[in-house]
Amino acid sequence: MISINENYNKLKASYLFSDIAARVSDYSKKNPDREIIKLGIGDVTRALPPACIDSFHSAVDEMADESSFRGYGPEQGYAFLREKIAENDFCKYGLPITHDEVFISDGAKCDTSNIQEIFSRDITIGIPDPVYPVYVDTNVMAGRTGTSRNSRYDGIVYLESTRENGFVPDIPPEPVDLIYLCFPNNPTGAIATKEQLKQWVDYAHKNRSLILFDAAYECFIRDRSLPRSIFEIEGADEVSIEFRSFSKNAGFTGTRCAFTVVPKKCRAFDKNGNSVPVHQLWLRRQSTKFNGVSYPVQRAAEAVYTSEGKRQVRDLTDYYLKNAELILQKMATLGFLCTGGKNSPYVWIKGDRDSWEFFDLLLEKAGVVCTPGSGFGKCGEQYIRISAFNTYENVQKAMARIEDTLK
Ligand SMILES: *Cc1c(COP(=O)(O)O)cnc(C)c1O
Repeated sequence: MISINENYNKLKASYLFSDIAARVSDYSKKNPDREIIKLGIGDVTRALPPACIDSFHSAVDEMADESSFRGYGPEQGYAFLREKIAENDFCKYGLPITHDEVFISDGAKCDTSNIQEIFSRDITIGIPDPVYPVYVDTNVMAGRTGTSRNSRYDGIVYLESTRENGFVPDIPPEPVDLIYLCFPNNPTGAIATKEQLKQWVDYAHKNRSLILFDAAYECFIRDRSLPRSIFEIEGADEVSIEFRSFSKNAGFTGTRCAFTVVPKKCRAFDKNGNSVPVHQLWLRRQSTKFNGVSYPVQRAAEAVYTSEGKRQVRDLTDYYLKNAELILQKMATLGFLCTGGKNSPYVWIKGDRDSWEFFDLLLEKAGVVCTPGSGFGKCGEQYIRISAFNTYENVQKAMARIEDTLK
């Protein structure tokens, strides 16, 4: 008899995006003439930067000619891309990351999902609430949790992000072995200061823990005093892994390219308490299970680091930031407590009702789709997330309609 992995049965059916889709389609059926503005999902809307497109095209042409054709590439990614990343994203800022510590992949989603398999099943994990659901579900699948009760799994230490702590979770009183952090945060848009990250790094040293730092939105940070990388904190390279992606800065959500930085100094421990470099485990994992990202895609990503590429990425992210600013300003003027919207494409809004009721109100009265905060965890129950990923014109229109509805 072929038995299933029973852990899959513990997964709460994730109704969030299908629930949203069902309510939206129901509404459009009843209101066929009403134009709906979607500020719900976290997907970019603008085209790839022209610099990326040019490199993408010429790399495809190389594949058409036997003299320049490439087959399997290095599992860790081509050196041309890893070197540009180390140089432009880290060395330039004085951060001691080398190209052989960079692993190219087809997404930060896969990497943040897969990384947990190099650690023991018996570790304790600390996961923020609200959160990007991938971190929770992959640990459920791996068998690190019990069943779910009241939107919480037994066996997870929930790191609550609330108004009281400015949506940056406090250090837990108990030791936690593996800690997930994401700044600028999805869904709250909050950003930890250097002092706050230092507390986590110190905690990880003290408790022999490891931090998984998801920096998928670092490109939206404009305030220079805020950390864009966990490696800005001294000693973080011994206790942290950082995830980055070309999805949100350069619009690669459908093109697929990301990278993970595993410093050679980063350590975990074997059953005898001996220190083991995590780099060697991740290299082994990737070279066994992954065959790399396609050559044209890596060339397209490389173009992000040319001078035109940098300018175009800056314009792209500035565009979304302007949307975010408008959302933040309007919602704050309407009297809502908001976080995010600065240095982040998301605005996290405290409603005066249950998050699904707030969602329904905005859909039915304003024709605007947001994301109910409860979909990201228990701490999101009174909140909604509004995303800046749309055209400025649509954001203006959406905010005007919300204003009419709520004022
Ligand atoms: C969008 C996003 C990513 C990026 O995922 P990709 O697989 O690289 O597209 C990673 N983490 C968070 C929290 C995100 O919202």
